[in-house]
Amino acid sequence: MEKRIYNFSAGPAILPEEVLKEAQENLFSLPGVGMSILEISHRSKTFDEIIQGADKNLRQLLGISDDYSILFLQGGATLQFSMVPLNLMPPKNKADYISTGVWAKKAIKEAKRVGTVNVAASGEAENFTRIPKQEELKLDPDAAYVHFTSNNTIYGTEWKKEPEVGSVPLVCDASSDFMHKKIDVNKYALIYAGAQKNLGPSGVTVVIVRKDMLERSQDTLHTYLNYKIHAENGSMYNTPTTFGIYIIHLVSKWLIKLGGLDVMYKMNCEKASILYDYMDESDGFYKGTAQKDSRSLMNVTFRLPNEELEKKIIEEATKAGFSGLKGHRSVGGLRASIYNAFPKQGVADLVQFMKDFKSRN
Ligand SMILES: *Cc1c(COP(=O)(O)O)cnc(C)c1O
Repeated sequence: MEKRIYNFSAGPAILPEEVLKEAQENLFSLPGVGMSILEISHRSKTFDEIIQGADKNLRQLLGISDDYSILFLQGGATLQFSMVPLNLMPPKNKADYISTGVWAKKAIKEAKRVGTVNVAASGEAENFTRIPKQEELKLDPDAAYVHFTSNNTIYGTEWKKEPEVGSVPLVCDASSDFMHKKIDVNKYALIYAGAQKNLGPSGVTVVIVRKDMLERSQDTLHTYLNYKIHAENGSMYNTPTTFGIYIIHLVSKWLIKLGGLDVMYKMNCEKASILYDYMDESDGFYKGTAQKDSRSLMNVTFRLPNEELEKKIIEEATKAGFSGLKGHRSVGGLRASIYNAFPKQGVADLVQFMKDFKSRN
């Protein structure tokens, strides 16, 4: 088999090797079924077990109660930028958004098509290098909900804990740090995440929605855009991404086998500190772009003394088997995405490579 290299891509991103191997082994024919996961009906008993298994595993890992529905939808996190306001904003017609980066801004853009958006805080003047402090949030106690982005994939910042929003429903775009640690789901009215960063392949989006929120979905909404319809139909109003849900089932099984999200979180902290600690000791050669108290465990963003060196290190790293280190085109620099499935050894090897590069340059 072709040797695998280190994949630092921000998304679609690395998946656990065990998951890829199991999927590969079973792709031709699922054990006891005699057909591929790619060929079976979403209405079959086999697929029903797969989607129920994924639902059960997510509930177990995150401690999600029966007060919540878990939906497996399509259209990426991007469609959620529209579905959240379409379903949750009426009848108040106004919502609070915390602007911490490009994805938050895209969510705001769509929400503005539905009603009034109060930007409760924006990090744009500081180039989104940090998460706003609680006392900086100008929240409207009468808002339909507050929307925030738990991890800012492009800027490498993350919320260390949820914003406090009183009794206003809290909505979170958790696309790039979903399941990287245990969170208290009861604090949220809705969490959504495109799977392709930390949970599975592209094409499937997980939405965890508190059931009382479904009462807000109006019958006049287009059918596919209505959360209530998806919840009532167990995510099978239409054909769901069967393969994507199958992989989520395998990834969630892998997380459980590993020991759950507290174990995963500990591993994520260890991995990220190997990289951040080295950057901080590099006499300013590698400079983190996020402020220290806002640093992401998932996306480590940094710069070198000049763009020429950045170009050079990316070229050399690619040759050495470290793929996907180029920063997002809107910010430049480098970004190492080290999601759940990324191995600790890969981070240590990258640091060794960075040390060698520094001494040569
Ligand atoms: C990648 C990403 C998105 C966009 O996801 P799509 O699935 O491409 O629509 C939205 N929000 C965050 C935080 C992301 O990282």
